[in-house]
Amino acid sequence: MIRKHSEKLEQVRGRIDTACREAGRRPESVQLLAVSKTHPASAVSHLHQLGQRAFGESYVDEAVAKITELAELDIEWHYIGPIQSNKTRTIAEHFDWVQGVDRSKIVRRLADQRPGRHAPLNILIQVNIDDEPQKAGCHPDDIAGLAAMIAEHDTLRLRGLMAIPAPREDFADQKTVFDRLFALYRELQATHPQVDTLSAGMSADLEAAIAAGSTMVRVGTALFGTRVKWKT
Ligand SMILES: *Cc1c(COP(=O)(O)O)cnc(C)c1O
Repeated sequence: MIRKHSEKLEQVRGRIDTACREAGRRPESVQLLAVSKTHPASAVSHLHQLGQRAFGESYVDEAVAKITELAELDIEWHYIGPIQSNKTRTIAEHFDWVQGVDRSKIVRRLADQRPGRHAPLNILIQVNIDDEPQKAGCHPDDIAGLAAMIAEHDTLRLRGLMAIPAPREDFADQKTVFDRLFALYRELQATHPQVDTLSAGMSADLEAAIAAGSTMVRVGTALFGTRVKWKT
């Protein structure tokens, strides 16, 4: 199993390195977030042994089970799923990053519920970049207001933006959307200089995201294989 993980991790790192080289960027400028949702704690542990430190989870109960099981390891946990307001306390208590903050109610709850003994919770604002009705994420016009609100709280730390564009086949089409996202990211950086993270790109489109300036790619399938349903 660890052999298989090692090969996939090498492949994904190779893709990131190649994309960086083609974009004239340093490979260290793009962080890999390993998306381990639906995969067992043993898979996370294998990748951790291979040097991977940041992991992303989308389902709160499943994530907490793994975080508890792997508490001894120095893992940075990112919550990347849709945020229900009745789950904010659990998220604020267990994760290091929350990607996908898209409304003021969630900002307030996470700020109030982050335990004071923990470091500030790192926050990415999710943008609904393709304006899809069923998708999470705020409208681009709402980024500035949310950012100002996040910046007011000592328990939160605004780090940047995240988006999940609609799937597109063609590299040029993928890049056009990521370019728009990057422009919003630069705009946010102009008012909040501590912003340093643009989370964009997944297994199918990480090259286009890196070409456009992404600093964090979230990769599941290309690292762990096809997802199976998590057993509860
Ligand atoms: C599942 C998930 C990913 C990983 O997608 P893959 O296509 O498997 O790489 C990335 N980001 C988010 C928000 C996800 O929910």
